[in-house]
Amino acid sequence: MRITDIEIHPISSRLDTPFAFSQGWVHQRSATLVEVKTDTGISGWGEAFSQGLESPAIAAAVIEHALQPLTLDADPLQPEVLWWKMYNHTRDYGRKGSVLSAISAIDIACWDIAGQFYQQPVATLLGGRFRDAVEPYATGFYRISGQGEADRLADEALRHIDNGFRKMKVKLGFGVDDDIAVMESIVRAIDGTSAELMVDVNHAYGRSEARSLGDALADTGLLWFEEPVVPEDIDSYCYLRESLNIPIAGGENEHSAYGFRECFTRGAFDIAQPDLCSCGGFTAARHITAMAQAFGIRVNPHVWGSAIAQAASLQLIAALPTTHHSLFPTEPLLEYDTSSHPFRNDLTENPVTLNNGQVTISDAPGLGLSVNRDVLKQYRLGQ
Ligand code: CA
Repeated sequence: MRITDIEIHPISSRLDTPFAFSQGWVHQRSATLVEVKTDTGISGWGEAFSQGLESPAIAAAVIEHALQPLTLDADPLQPEVLWWKMYNHTRDYGRKGSVLSAISAIDIACWDIAGQFYQQPVATLLGGRFRDAVEPYATGFYRISGQGEADRLADEALRHIDNGFRKMKVKLGFGVDDDIAVMESIVRAIDGTSAELMVDVNHAYGRSEARSLGDALADTGLLWFEEPVVPEDIDSYCYLRESLNIPIAGGENEHSAYGFRECFTRGAFDIAQPDLCSCGGFTAARHITAMAQAFGIRVNPHVWGSAIAQAASLQLIAALPTTHHSLFPTEPLLEYDTSSHPFRNDLTENPVTLNNGQVTISDAPGLGLSVNRDVLKQYRLGQ
């Protein structure tokens, strides 16, 4: 089999109500989607991560100018071989960021093609399914005015519980005092329920502020404290992991086995959160998750993308072994973004849905996706 064409679909939609996380205001949701076509008629879907502050045109340019020439005529049934070709040929200007996101998109599409060719879900090709369903946690609590939204966010917590979530992740990083007020309000609101919380500051703090926030939240039973400091500051990750009695999570802004090797050997994380659409796709995720297992580090993939990113992430989660075997092990969770995303649910006929607190993992071939092309046209960037 050989790759004959790569169609790039950068899509974007402005939000009616912009929202904020600690790094800025999100005015549009975007995605860089790719469709890798082959001489057999089989084509596969992939996605490059595009966070709320980044144009989908960046990864699209990498795919068009750097990766397309490397991948045309390559065999998509040998994704490991193609991955190293893409990584090696972009090393001097790549290794991180949008270049790795672009590699991720093509790699995911190749695994989708392989799954369709072998008539197996990607999880089976990765080694098999440890689970057919996964518990999602709600990622939410974005801001619509900035600080001082503790009451509204407590109401949001109750809404997530009504919607069937038992775990939810609160966006913090709006100043330690404001963060503490928000958490006190949410903890009060959910008192008496079985809900559990995580917090995510999106690397808004230095180590002293992160330590102060962690100390203030020490009694809230947090499942984890995510991205307390910038990803470059591995020393502070290690310091916080030593200082706080809260599991430290990170890795959504780290890439490839090389980047995670540094974090793992130095002891930065209790929980690693590679994003399939930016860490380097399934091929890099295999390297990273095998290494995490050897270090005894749990993996909960980060996902904040379109339906393609969600479907891919579910296949990876199905194939993740539990890190610490026992009768009642801690299972991986699915990050379920509850923020506004105009085209996420419309992009496919089988969007992710919550049933009895669980999300079922597709056992259809490949990613199990059927993509609505009208949505690609409707939201195409630059129209
Ligand atoms: Ca995060």
